[in-house]
Amino acid sequence: MRPASLKILGKKWSVDYKSMDQDEIGECDLERQAITIKDGLKTEQETSTLLHECIHAISDSLGLNLTEKQVQGLETGLFDLNSSNPRFFSHIRKR
Ligand SMILES: [Zn+2]
Repeated sequence: MRPASLKILGKKWSVDYKSMDQDEIGECDLERQAITIKDGLKTEQETSTLLHECIHAISDSLGLNLTEKQVQGLETGLFDLNSSNPRFFSHIRKR
């Protein structure tokens, strides 16, 4: 089930799915703490776009000023890390 909100660095961000311009599939708004994902994407593209926007949210929240290229690289790397190691994130969550 796709999340309607996410907690990112202690703050609640809303996640909305709606129609967007042709060339846009995701958006991250630090002021409103809102992530928007284009509605109707295929599941894998939707989840990787959500991850991408979360990386933007982290970058903006911490003032990292990551470039679009860096965000894209982290999206690809983290998505692959998770799919190649399905239990990895639950492993690092354990204390
Ligand atoms: Zn981006």
